[in-house]
Amino acid sequence: MSEASAPRHPLAVLLAVQDIDTAIAQHEHRKATLLERRELAEASERAGEIRRRSVALERRAEELSSALAHLEEQSAAVVARRKALEDRLYGARGAAGRDLAAIESEILQLRNRLGQLEDEEIVLLEEQEPLDASRDASASQLALLAERSAELGARVAEADAAIDGELARLRAARDEEAARLPDALARRYEDLRARLGGTGAARLIGDRCDGCHLTLPSAEVDRIRHLPEDAIATCDQCGRILVRASLAGDA
Ligand SMILES: [Zn+2]
Repeated sequence: MSEASAPRHPLAVLLAVQDIDTAIAQHEHRKATLLERRELAEASERAGEIRRRSVALERRAEELSSALAHLEEQSAAVVARRKALEDRLYGARGAAGRDLAAIESEILQLRNRLGQLEDEEIVLLEEQEPLDASRDASASQLALLAERSAELGARVAEADAAIDGELARLRAARDEEAARLPDALARRYEDLRARLGGTGAARLIGDRCDGCHLTLPSAEVDRIRHLPEDAIATCDQCGRILVRASLAGDA
C-alpha cells in the first residue's frame, strides 16, 4: 500500500467488491448453519417429543388414579356392608338358623369380593409405579433440555451478534468500494452475480478461471493477456468477468 491514493483500475475495485460479497455470503452461510443453532432446533424437537409422550403418560396416570379411587369406593362399600351384616349377626342370637346362614353366606361373598377388589387394585398399582417413574424421567429430561436450550440459545445469540457485527463492517466496506465502480460495470456484475451463485467476477490465475475453476485454452489466455487495459474479458466457460493478474491489484 505504498500508493494508497493512486486510483485503482475499475476491475481491481470490482474484485475487491467481489471478495467482500464472497465474505458476506460466507458469513451469512455460517450464521444460517451454526452448529449451536442446529443443536438448539434438535433440543426443541426432542422436548416436543417428550412433551407429547408426557401428555399420554398424564392421561394414563389420570385414568389409573380415577380407577383406583373407584376401586376404593367399592371396597369401602363392601366393608360397610360386611360390618352391617356382622353387627346384625352378633345382635341376632335368637334369629332363625336359616337367616343366620344367609347372612354368613353373604359375608363370605363380600370377603371374596373384597379380595377381588384388592387384586384389581394391585394390578393398577403395579402399572402406576413404572408410569410414575416414566413421568419423573420425562420431567427431568425436560428440565435438562430446558437448561441445554438456554445455554445453546445464549451461544447462538453470542455467535449471531459477532457475525452480525462482522457483516455490518463488511457491508459498509462493500458500499464504499461499490460506489467507486462505473455504473455499467456495476450493473453487469450484479446481473452475473444474480445468475451465477453470487460470483460475477473472477481472477484469471495462470490459465485457470477462479470462478469456475476450469482451464482456458492457452491461445485464449494469451489473447486476454494482450487485451487493452480497458477491455473487459469474460470466461468462455462460465461467463464471469475475468480479471487478469496485471489488473487485479492483488498484493
Ligand atoms: Zn469461468
